[in-house]
Amino acid sequence: MTTHAIIVAAGKGHRAGGDIPKQYRSVGGQALLRHAVERLQAHPGIDDVTIVINPDDRALYDAAMHGLTLPEPVTGGATRQQSVLNGLEALATSPPTIILVHDAARAFLLATLIDDLLAALSDPANDGAVPALPVVDSLRRAGSHFEAAVDRDGLFRVQTPQAFRFPALLAAHRAAAPGATDELAIAMAAGLRVAVTRGDECAFKVTEPQDFAKAEAMTSPALSSRAASGFDVHRFGPGDHVWLCGVQIPHSHGLIGHSDADAGLHALTDALLGTIAAGDIGDHFPPSDPQWRGAASDTFLAHAATLVHAAGGIIDHADVTLICERPKIGPHRAAMRARIAAILGIDVARVSVKATTTELLGFTGRSEGLAAQAMASVRLPA
Ligand code: MG
Repeated sequence: MTTHAIIVAAGKGHRAGGDIPKQYRSVGGQALLRHAVERLQAHPGIDDVTIVINPDDRALYDAAMHGLTLPEPVTGGATRQQSVLNGLEALATSPPTIILVHDAARAFLLATLIDDLLAALSDPANDGAVPALPVVDSLRRAGSHFEAAVDRDGLFRVQTPQAFRFPALLAAHRAAAPGATDELAIAMAAGLRVAVTRGDECAFKVTEPQDFAKAEAMTSPALSSRAASGFDVHRFGPGDHVWLCGVQIPHSHGLIGHSDADAGLHALTDALLGTIAAGDIGDHFPPSDPQWRGAASDTFLAHAATLVHAAGGIIDHADVTLICERPKIGPHRAAMRARIAAILGIDVARVSVKATTTELLGFTGRSEGLAAQAMASVRLPA
């Protein structure tokens, strides 16, 4: 027994707006059609997926399906009905046992929907099975004003995929009068017995422009917040300037370190690495590696930001506290915030730089060295 799916993607989708047919519009970073294809391909009960397209859209199709293994798409017809028939005829030389016909715009179908369809067709008494949802809103006929009530009892909203025994659907399609809206209509006209299975709101049809916002929300992964801290110290030594939070500041001493000794950026780099549990700055930029001698520390921070982004993360906030008696940080705070914001690619309102002394106590109090601590907040896929 083989089960194939046909996705009808030959339409223009005018109601949805946009410059290209809606099935090729990007939702969650990939074409709407690709979401449907991947969901059908991923189901263990589906052996192959054939897509019916408008040949004018071939370049869009190729771009959207890049990297997927699929049979050559079938050319659609002037109507949805003709497009499905073309798809069925293309499979007729080596017919599957069961065929699912699906609308590309119902991109977010669930595996359970397919499970229920295949289960219904395990009953030999059923020629087909179609998912549907009971109508819960009250119904009324209306023109410009309300007219008679319609009893919603026993009324259903019909979805896709619609599943049939292939020979029965092919025969029904070949014999059908033109203008059918879906396979259910054609099957009913042919006297087939079609079971109702449970529909799901997730399989809604992307139709109107506002549906894209709903679709986008469905594809954005749930994000969870993470926060992590970093700490760094560098010793004062001979010199006439220090680098702090990416800003060069004239000073009576320099800071000693393998790189530019920017403790502020080092602490923040460690904090960001901490949000993705990616070790510390020394793991990524070993002091033993001569290429980092005297390096500008913005390289380190930019690398940590890249790693967070690669993990699907969004950097929400960065907060640095510099701990020293001298130099005075206040006059440079705005420049530091702007520099960090630029390195991280976030708004300056999301960057905080603070300073404190240790009341002349300890190594910072004696101006033997300067310390920095940092906190980074990110959102990552859950
Ligand atoms: Mg350091």
